[in-house]
This record gives sequence, C-alpha cells and structure tokens, in this order.
Amino acid sequence: MDFCLSDTQQMYVDTVQRFVKTDILPQIMDLERKHTFPGTLIHKAWEMGILNLCIPESIKGYGIDVTSSALIIKELSYGDSGIATSAMCNDLANAVIAMHGTGRQQTLFLKPFVDAPKMASFCLTEPGAGSDNSAMTTFIKKSDDGTYLLNGAKCFITNATFASQFTVLCKVGKPSGNFMACVIVPVDGPLPADVTSAQHEGREISLPGGGRISIGKPEDKLGQRLSNTASVTFEDVVIQPEQIIGDRRLGFKYIVDVLDYARPMVAAIGVGLARRALDVTLAYTKQRKQFGQRICDLPVARETLVQMWKKVELADLALMKSALKVQEQAPDRGIYASLAKNTAAEAAIFCANEGLHLHGGYGFMAEYEISKLARDAHIIDIYEGVREVQNMIIGRELV
Ligand SMILES: Cc1cc2nc3c(=O)[nH]c(=O)nc-3n(C[C@H](O)[C@H](O)[C@H](O)COP(=O)(O)OP(=O)(O)OC[C@H]3O[C@@H](n4cnc5c(N)ncnc54)[C@H](O)[C@@H]3O)c2cc1C
Repeated sequence: MDFCLSDTQQMYVDTVQRFVKTDILPQIMDLERKHTFPGTLIHKAWEMGILNLCIPESIKGYGIDVTSSALIIKELSYGDSGIATSAMCNDLANAVIAMHGTGRQQTLFLKPFVDAPKMASFCLTEPGAGSDNSAMTTFIKKSDDGTYLLNGAKCFITNATFASQFTVLCKVGKPSGNFMACVIVPVDGPLPADVTSAQHEGREISLPGGGRISIGKPEDKLGQRLSNTASVTFEDVVIQPEQIIGDRRLGFKYIVDVLDYARPMVAAIGVGLARRALDVTLAYTKQRKQFGQRICDLPVARETLVQMWKKVELADLALMKSALKVQEQAPDRGIYASLAKNTAAEAAIFCANEGLHLHGGYGFMAEYEISKLARDAHIIDIYEGVREVQNMIIGRELV
C-alpha cells in the first residue's frame, strides 16, 4: 500500500485547490447568503474537467478512478460542500449507466454530459420511503405497444430544478411490486448562470414522448444552500425499453453498486468540510487573544484542536481505504464505504461544532464561515443513508 499520490493525482489536487482558492472561497459567503445556485462555478468546474468523473473514456469522458475522484471531491468540498454535493450528484446519477449501461445507452445518456455542462439527478428517496427505500411506490407499467409508463413522486432530489436528466429507481408492474428497475429520463435543461433564491421556482416539463414531470419549489435548507434540492413527480412519463438500464428486475442490486461507489464520495465531502473547519478555527484561535495568550495556546482549547485534527486525519484514512476497496471491487468494499461515511460525518460535525465553540460568540454570527460550516455538516450524517443504516450494514457484514 502506498500513501503517496501519483503525479496525475497530485495534478488533480493542485488544480482543484487553485480553483477553490481563487474562484470559490472569495465569494462563498456572499453566494451562500443569497442562497445561490452557482451555475457559473459549476460551468467552470465542467470546463476544468472536475465534473462527471465516472464517464468512461470510450465516449470521451475522463473515466477517473475512484481514489482520484475522492481526492477531487474532497478538495472541492474544502471550498464548499454544497457545490461538491451538486457535482458529486452527477456521478451518483450517472454511475449506474457507466457500470451497467450498454454502449448505446452510454452514448445516449452520458455523452451529453461530455459535450456540455449539464446537471443530473438521482431519484431514489420518496416521502414514504427514506431509509427503507424498498417501500418506494413509484413504478413503471408496461403498455400494449411495448413502452412503459412511469408514475410516482420523489423528494429531496439534488440538482432537480436544473437537471437535464433523471435516473429513477422504481418498482416494476405495480407500486407494491417485488422488483426494482432503474430508468433514465432525459429532458431539456441547459445549465443556468447563477440563480439566487428570489429567482428559484418550480419547474414543469412536458415530455415530447408523452407525460409530465413536475419539479417542486426548491427546498429552503439549513445548510448546503448552494446545492439545489427539490421534489420530482412523474406523471404518465413514457419510457422506451432502451431507457431501462440492464435487467429491469435488478434495480436494487444496481443501487447497492452505486451507493458503494458514492458513499466514499460523501465521505470525501465530509473530510473536506472537516478540514476546512479545522483550518478556519486554527486561523481564528492563532489570532484571537484572551487571558493574555492566543486561544490556541490555552491548554484546554489546544486539546480541542488536537481532537479536531485527529478526527480529520482518521476520517481521511478511512476514506482512502474505502476508495481503494471500491476501486478494486473488493468483496468487503460495502463495510468500508459505510465506515468511511460514518467516520467522515462524525469528523465534519465534531470539527464544525467544536470550531464554532472555539470562535465563542463570533462563531454564532452569520458573517463567520464556521457558522456556515456548522450548518452544512449535519447533512453528511443523513444523505445517502443515515448513520444507523451504515451501522446496520456494518453489523450485518460483521456477523
Ligand atoms: C439536502 C439533501 C439532499 C438529498 N439528495 C438526495 C438525492 O439526490 N437523491 C435521493 O434519492 N435522496 C436524496 N436525499 C434523501 C436522503 O438520502 C434521505 O433524507 C435519507 O436517506 C434519510 O431518509 P429520510 O429523510 O426519509 O429519514 P428516515 O428514513 O425517516 O429516518 C429518520 C431517522 O430515523 C432513524 N432511522 C431510520 N432508519 C433507521 C434504522 N434502520 N435503525 C435505526 N434508526 C433508524 C435515524 O435516526 C434517521 O435519521 C437528500 C436529502 C437531503 C436532506
């Protein structure tokens, strides 16, 4: 095992760090205050090649390996975990096409992301089916002409307002069906420039092939306010057989494959955020004096900084191990993906909360970045499977 980055990986890290330093951090607090969807930054990320990491080289994508992808997402999240979430969601939605789609499906559904900056959404969660996604009721039903009709409602869908493609997990035949399918629904959806909350609206899409998609008004969230989240309702959307990925009864297996890949990416978001919280807090406590000393020199405060650093480093180790396991398709990759996700979420929440505390009253003020980081951190423990679900997976594997 080698802890050194390859030259290519170092180049990715340096490139994203530069982007974060020059383009993201100087304006992040302003964008966040206005609750902006940062279309301009996403566009630039696409131009730089740090969006759509999983698209295979066979259709002119970057085909970036899992470990390198984790490094890129981690550095992006150091700038803003909401932007990293939006970027990562393109891969969350598209990984199943890269893993299980035919050559023609990859050209149809992945090539547009190579050709232009576009957003994709992964539609799994429903109002009545969160942690227990087998309770979903969205379904496809076969019509006499061989096509299918898709009906159902999804919620909390990242990128939905601006998405040009939806990857939808649904039941087959009826809402209570035993099998799950994975269908791809492309729509018109150019990436907008920056859109502030005052301009945020719902979206109605009439599909030329038949049916409608209604996107709810974007959610007003506690944190990660630069990522877009909205509900998505499918009404009699006509699905051609070639829009179904792989075997239409194996959707659940495909979700597991996607989540094994994506959980290290969420861990990367957590580690990036945790490291930012540590750095912001170090900078503040080195400059602020109380009792005639810098706060970082007060023994109890120093101990908190040490605890923060340890959490970041351990979460980073768990992240890198899980990324390697997933990259090598190791049989035990699932348990490490869950470990990394939980460890990173814990590090992010700990560092953001303790960092805020070490800022004293200033940490409670909206103008201090640590207050934003503390709001952003909580979702890492929730999306892509809450902490308890990760522990369920770990427990199941252990025994
Ligand atoms: C900002 C944001 C972005 C999101 N993006 C997406 C997306 O792009 N696509 C998508 O499909 N979904 C997305 N989600 C949904 C997210 O994955 C779900 O919110 C998450 O899986 C939890 O489901 P739930 O909210 O229904 O909580 P519930 O399942 O109702 O769980 C609530 C709580 O119950 C407890 N609990 C649940 N299950 C167990 C258990 N087995 N054992 C013990 N305790 C348990 C936990 O404490 C949990 O926090 C997003 C959510 C948010 C908030």
